[in-house]
Amino acid sequence: MSDNEDLYDMVVFGAGSAGYAAALRGAQLGLSVALVERHKLGGTCLHNGCIPTKAMLHAAELADQARQGADVGVRSSFQGIDMDALHAYKNSVVSGLCNGLTGLVDARGITYVEGEGRLSSATSVDVGGRRLTGRHVVLATGSVPRTLPGLEIDGRRVISSDHALTLDYVPKSVIVLGGGVIGVEFASAWSSFGARVTVVEALPRLVPTEDETVSSRLEAEFLKRGISLNLGVPFDSSEYTRDGIRVRLADGKSLEADLLLVAVGRGPVSQGLGFEEAGVVMDKGHVLVDEYMRTSVPTISAVGDLVPTPQLAHVGFAEGIIVAERVARKAPVPIDYDGVPRVTFSRPEIASVGLTEAKAKQVYGAENVDFVVYDLATNARSRTLRTEGHVKVVRRKGGAVVGVHMIGDRISEQIGEAQLIYNWEACPQDVAGLVHAYPTQGEALGEATLALTGKPLHWQV
Ligand SMILES: Cc1cc2nc3c(=O)[nH]c(=O)nc-3n(C[C@H](O)[C@H](O)[C@H](O)COP(=O)(O)OP(=O)(O)OC[C@H]3O[C@@H](n4cnc5c(N)ncnc54)[C@H](O)[C@@H]3O)c2cc1C
Repeated sequence: MSDNEDLYDMVVFGAGSAGYAAALRGAQLGLSVALVERHKLGGTCLHNGCIPTKAMLHAAELADQARQGADVGVRSSFQGIDMDALHAYKNSVVSGLCNGLTGLVDARGITYVEGEGRLSSATSVDVGGRRLTGRHVVLATGSVPRTLPGLEIDGRRVISSDHALTLDYVPKSVIVLGGGVIGVEFASAWSSFGARVTVVEALPRLVPTEDETVSSRLEAEFLKRGISLNLGVPFDSSEYTRDGIRVRLADGKSLEADLLLVAVGRGPVSQGLGFEEAGVVMDKGHVLVDEYMRTSVPTISAVGDLVPTPQLAHVGFAEGIIVAERVARKAPVPIDYDGVPRVTFSRPEIASVGLTEAKAKQVYGAENVDFVVYDLATNARSRTLRTEGHVKVVRRKGGAVVGVHMIGDRISEQIGEAQLIYNWEACPQDVAGLVHAYPTQGEALGEATLALTGKPLHWQV
């Protein structure tokens, strides 16, 4: 061992959601932990993802409410977006959370090491001339925005979500390439800010991993809001115009806008970091792991966006915790990824857990699955909020609920109950027997399960 070698129970490489969760839980369990980060503690979610986008979407919601105040008797009008003030608000949320996290890492006695890291062996990470050696190493280097072949992100007219979060103006027009979660969240926010928005998605529907009823409802609501959709047509090429960008689609259609946001997914950060040299088995840049997040090397685990599991902050938290508990010789339980809640914070919001109707039919056989779609039109609270949407509950006939798919303003808040229903394998009669508060959007789950037990109250099936 050289003089400048530090020894730990666990060295965590990357301090995003997954890495810091592993570090915090490890330290809580009495492990000595080093946490390596080249940018900022908190990673993508805190600085370029979940939190700044939600701040932006909150501002978008207020913009819409200002526009629509008169509809409910409030004299108000939308006068525009003050970008400096919006950034100040967004940055204050981010820095407040970052300070809290820094304090927590410090309080748990974690050694935080800033700098560019590289895996130097199956048990060590090198950072700025320092070698951190661990009984165990956790790879958590996350992901970055991807693009399509031949489409260069220049940061000016062709941008990624990272650039979109720091724009100092509201574009007059934007093409959003990609109708997944990130694409529809930006499309929604920019539309609320007053931009003319066009979404291009190669697959035939928006949010293609969600239940089909949810995609159709989102498409209808976006169209009502004036957001243009080009679905089922791949991107072909793009070229700069005098002051913007022109996009050609595979069907020959051409679109023009000030900006093109490339939101076609995120790829793992793994190149040139020494993973292969240490014997870690990878596939297309992702590190492959088992259900306990173990890689092919016994002393190395991997978590978060770096591994091919859903790219969600809370998935990263859960995976990081599994590793920390394993290293501390506890007995963690593998994650049921279908039971992980998924929320899209567009307007309207989408919240789902479990299997879509199509997937449930594939797994259990079409004859063994049924479902109800409860329309929020008959939900009193949704009426006062003036939102449209629905709650779809899918179950095995005569058995447990296997999927819940919700869409509507503020519906994300209902995901907690939906998650319990799915993960505790509740049957519709178990939920229908619970008295839901009136008037709340939570009643929608009550009404849907009442309908599945043959006794709908406020609607006729
Ligand atoms: C616009 C957007 C919105 C999102 N919204 C949500 C949401 O609402 N809810 C949700 O659950 N998820 C959301 N996500 C996804 C979420 O941000 C990611 O799933 C999560 O951040 C992944 O965490 P991670 O720790 O795996 O990776 P990251 O957060 O990417 O962290 C990896 C860290 O490793 C560091 N690193 C990489 N290489 C090195 C190196 N060589 N040396 C030192 N450090 C290194 C990086 O700097 C980074 O900080 C969003 C993502 C985006 C882009």
